[in-house]
Amino acid sequence: MGKENIIEVENLTKMFGDFTAVNAISFKVKKGEIFGFLGANGAGKTTAMKMLIGIAKPTSGNAQIANFDVYKNPDDIKKNIGYMSQKFALYDDLTVKENITFFGGIYGLSRTQINKKTIELTEELNLQEVINQLVGSLPLGWKQKISFSVALLHNPKIIFLDEPTSGVDPITRRQFWEMIYKAANNGTTIFVTTHYMDEAEYCDRVSIMVNGKIEALDTPKKLKELFKVDTMNDVFLKLARE
Ligand code: ATP
Repeated sequence: MGKENIIEVENLTKMFGDFTAVNAISFKVKKGEIFGFLGANGAGKTTAMKMLIGIAKPTSGNAQIANFDVYKNPDDIKKNIGYMSQKFALYDDLTVKENITFFGGIYGLSRTQINKKTIELTEELNLQEVINQLVGSLPLGWKQKISFSVALLHNPKIIFLDEPTSGVDPITRRQFWEMIYKAANNGTTIFVTTHYMDEAEYCDRVSIMVNGKIEALDTPKKLKELFKVDTMNDVFLKLARE
């Protein structure tokens, strides 16, 4: 594994019967990078991400995540990463504080560490008024911001975000991205899928998957130059149309 690369993927493939959902994808991600993983519905993003986080076995190919092998050390991968999806976030029937305590416990934090983190997060996210409220009573944007912080509780090397801002208003999305930048500045690598093309512009590099293959991968600037268009939305449309 290259010194600075925290993710190295080579010809990673997943087949379901005769159907190739992920077709020999290869890419590398550097420590602290914000890597956008784009593709239309059904392109294979979720299947690829499941292999990267150690919950699905590849059919063939190789992947090293935080120096661990997806075949040999899937459990070590899970300990060293954070994961946040739109579908599974926090428990609605627990308060914000109880969620932090619960997930902190799962991630192996001590009581003292959990208490310290709770105080830190309360200040950082201005949670004073909602800390003892049930998560189910909070707006989606709040839930997602808290959920992101909870996924970072154990200081993971990489955080995988699967459409974290789906359905969230533009102002909250902007705040969410400020949190992403902050985590990246602290050295956490961000691997993020999104359907919002303005968010693709915020990534250091972006890969675009079409029918199981990575058809383009570069900085947003270079991709726009390559496809001779002004926005990532147009890059995406050009690739999807082809
Ligand atoms: P979305 O944005 O809608 O989540 P995606 O890019 O994440 O899309 P995947 O969920 O990875 O796409 O699915 C890729 C393809 O693999 C789809 O055609 C899907 O139907 C198929 N697929 C996914 N899981 C399975 C499975 N367990 N068995 C058979 N086919 C599957």
